[in-house]
Amino acid sequence: MPTRSLQDIVPLHDLGEPLIIAGPCSAESEQQTLDAARALSAIGVKVFRAGIWKPRTMPGGFEGVGDAGLTWLRRVKQETGMTIATEVATVDHVHAALDAGVDVLWIGARTTANTFAMQDIADVLHGNDKVIVLVKNPLNPDLDLWLGALQRLAYAGVTRLGAVHRGFSSAGAHFYRNDPQWHIPFELRRCVPELTILCDPSHIGGKREFVKSLSQQALDMGFDGLMIESHCNPDQALSDSAQQITPNDLKKLLGNLVIRSGVPIEDELALLRQQIDDCDRDLLAVLARRMGVSREIGSFKKAHNLRIVQPARYQSVINERIKLASALGLPSEFVKQVMEAIHAESVRQQLDINNTSE
Ligand code: PEP
Ligand code: MN
Repeated sequence: MPTRSLQDIVPLHDLGEPLIIAGPCSAESEQQTLDAARALSAIGVKVFRAGIWKPRTMPGGFEGVGDAGLTWLRRVKQETGMTIATEVATVDHVHAALDAGVDVLWIGARTTANTFAMQDIADVLHGNDKVIVLVKNPLNPDLDLWLGALQRLAYAGVTRLGAVHRGFSSAGAHFYRNDPQWHIPFELRRCVPELTILCDPSHIGGKREFVKSLSQQALDMGFDGLMIESHCNPDQALSDSAQQITPNDLKKLLGNLVIRSGVPIEDELALLRQQIDDCDRDLLAVLARRMGVSREIGSFKKAHNLRIVQPARYQSVINERIKLASALGLPSEFVKQVMEAIHAESVRQQLDINNTSE
């Protein structure tokens, strides 16, 4: 008799301590999978993740080992007693994973946005109240797509549902691989208070040096747990090599996490400050890109013996930007000052190039 609503969702764990899921981005070989699982089990990780069907943006990359990996995951479960998790994107994946005894299925960011695939997966899971299904946010920052995917599963009677925040793709330079836009998972929390929401700092950060601080931030903001990519030899990993950390580093990270209680996720001020932090990171990344282009122009001017400051061009840049700014509702005087400061630094950098002898 399914057709339940998201309000019937039950939390996936008792909220005493964060739920930790860890494992390699991909299962690459039986040995690599078992090595990672044994090392992670030894540091107390209870839920093991490994992708075997890998959605890749470009063809020709490592697309996962496919069904063969299910046997390895089953071995992990038998040997270590860990709960096993993998990504599914099609009905065939769901059947194969359930047949192999996979306990946790996660829906990847590329699939969450695919309403037909989501409905097919929901249909095949109809009435299944045993398997845990985690839905990652869609690639684009659209809360309704995320909620819709969760609803399709809830309406089919899947009650053991959770969400994973992995950040949003965006064009252009960004500090992190995927823009966190924290207000979106906060809004999800507001809409479905009982839903377990995990954070995936590996895919947000994209580089291993960000994983620790993002993990702490996520817990401070009230996420219920973390999904972290961990590989025994991250530099050799066949996918997402830059963001994976060793089980030993994960042990240190988990040991140093500060668990604060009662930090309300809806804390308005924290939410707004996170948005400011995101904007500042973007601003700085764009500024750095602009200075790079400016230095290239500097080299061109030097090679062609051109003057650095060309007043007509400078005037037209300032005028154009003021027009643009007023269309965006920004005060002209403020934008003029910002553009003048940026221009002054550009000139300084181009002078540097002129004064450097090759
Ligand atoms: C992954 O978890 O390895 C993965 C492919 O994630 P996402 O769907 O977030 O890109
Ligand atoms: Mn990955």
